[in-house]
Amino acid sequence: MSLRIVVCVKYVPDATGDRHFADDLTVDRDDVDGLLSELDEYAVEQALQIADEADDAEITVLTVGPEDAKDALRKALSMGADKAIHVEDDDLHGTDVMGTSLVLAKAIEKAGYDLVITGMASTDGTMGVLPAILAERLGVPQVTLLSEVKVEDGTVTGRRDGDTASETLEASLPALVSVTDQSGEARYPSFKGIMAAKKKPVESWDLEELEIEAGEVGLEGSWTKVDSAAQRPARTAGTIVKDEGEGGKQLAEFLAGQKFI
Ligand SMILES: Cc1cc2nc3c(=O)[nH]c(=O)nc-3n(C[C@H](O)[C@H](O)[C@H](O)COP(=O)(O)OP(=O)(O)OC[C@H]3O[C@@H](n4cnc5c(N)ncnc54)[C@H](O)[C@@H]3O)c2cc1C
Repeated sequence: MSLRIVVCVKYVPDATGDRHFADDLTVDRDDVDGLLSELDEYAVEQALQIADEADDAEITVLTVGPEDAKDALRKALSMGADKAIHVEDDDLHGTDVMGTSLVLAKAIEKAGYDLVITGMASTDGTMGVLPAILAERLGVPQVTLLSEVKVEDGTVTGRRDGDTASETLEASLPALVSVTDQSGEARYPSFKGIMAAKKKPVESWDLEELEIEAGEVGLEGSWTKVDSAAQRPARTAGTIVKDEGEGGKQLAEFLAGQKFI
């Protein structure tokens, strides 16, 4: 039977762009270019490597995000994933991690899966907590922060590197794993891959299809609330220490004044 892998990928604002908050204190996603979260490229890469080793496997990439989030799905498809699911609904505006994990869980259950792969954290929210919440919602084992992953005989095995030791962990499928940026360089899409991606299926689902009430997500259904946000102060000109014989002393005094030493 085919190994069904679902990879969760997030469409994030380009970190090199000028990002700001909208009036309701949510991230303004309309005025900035977005892209597939770089850390999720590692998740797609691991899925492709697992599929290469398996007799028969199918990779579905899944995102919850606005219309433009399709760009992230196309990139993952051009890397080699087989099909994509885009969950989009106006009522998702302002959804926090609890709501996002609910939507992802319902979509993954509807799609069917043996293995869910996520990145270690998104490059915008960077909570790094969604994989654990998602595994709880699905009721499957979670093997997180892996730098190496293998699937064999219905078991997923992985290595988690800590500061002082590396652990080898395993879980029986179905399971969820998250992978780190140490898991192996993600491949660039080839020209052939980019062309092939244009013909791969992308399904769009809304909240109704997932049997989720509007009040369970969005700002109303969020467990967290942003009370205030302030613009980062403009950068001021740095202090220039001119060495006229006392440069070293002045430098030390400056560092001590800033409590660096
Ligand atoms: C339209 C929209 C509006 C939102 N508005 C808000 C808001 O106002 N306030 C707020 O707190 N949150 C909001 N969110 C949710 C937020 O952007 C995050 O998706 C969510 O809180 C998870 O946090 P994180 O990105 O830090 O996850 P992390 O735990 O850092 O992510 C780990 C991994 O989870 C997966 N993942 C995370 N998010 C998604 C996703 N959306 N789709 C697929 N995979 C994913 C990726 O594999 C990622 O590498 C919104 C989301 C959407 C789609």
